[in-house]
Amino acid sequence: MPVTYMNVTKIEESGYTAALHGLAHNKKQSVEKMADVAQKLAEMDGGHNKFLESILLWLDVRAPRYWWQEADTFRLSTKQSESTMHTLTQELLAVDMNDPDAVNSFLQQNFESDACSLDTLGAIYAAAAGNDIIGVKKRLPEGFLQTRLWCMSYKTLRNIILQRRSHRLPHWKAFIAQTLEQVEHPELLPGLRKKAEKV
Ligand SMILES: Cc1cc2nc3c(=O)[nH]c(=O)nc-3n(C[C@H](O)[C@H](O)[C@H](O)COP(=O)(O)OP(=O)(O)OC[C@H]3O[C@@H](n4cnc5c(N)ncnc54)[C@H](O)[C@@H]3O)c2cc1C
Repeated sequence: MPVTYMNVTKIEESGYTAALHGLAHNKKQSVEKMADVAQKLAEMDGGHNKFLESILLWLDVRAPRYWWQEADTFRLSTKQSESTMHTLTQELLAVDMNDPDAVNSFLQQNFESDACSLDTLGAIYAAAAGNDIIGVKKRLPEGFLQTRLWCMSYKTLRNIILQRRSHRLPHWKAFIAQTLEQVEHPELLPGLRKKAEKV
């Protein structure tokens, strides 16, 4: 498991054609001419790039919870998350804690490297075995990896990229790079900041 973990898989994207249709109403021109107009308007915040709200994106993101804590501040989106309780009760309780390979495999699949000590895992296991839900939750390290389906518009994604492309947490750059590689219309979004630009 790498020191910092981030994995983004695009599940679905839709709305581009409809967004151009809306722009055509606004400009009183044909839809066919709107791709160029959209590209020009995309970076004009303050009302002109509202059409970006009509283009929706569903991303499956696996990342540590301390990154999700930051991602949660972006309010204009919705998420469906993997259950921590399922992983830590059913999956962990199925692990033979006396088998170092099984324990390492569980740690590698569910945490960034060095995120969970054997003592902590043992304490979580004991709490789970005793059906102590609070004991499980409060001991869970921030480096626990959680998968969530994150649904957002291009407008929200634009905001995220502008705010986070220079962020010191490396996960943000990885999130942005992996997302830009998969979206159908990267021309409507800001890129990763070039080295020469000021932070
Ligand atoms: C480097 C960095 C450090 C930060 N540290 C902290 C921190 O320590 N603590 C903390 O709490 N936050 C922190 N923030 C979060 C920041 O204040 C923003 O809330 C967060 O980045 C989400 O951005 P947003 O509000 O633009 O996005 P969204 O929540 O997606 O909202 C998009 C836009 O919609 C509008 N909007 C959304 N909700 C409302 C509303 N209720 N009323 C009116 N307009 C609304 C606003 O125009 C907003 O810009 C940090 C941000 C950065 C970049």
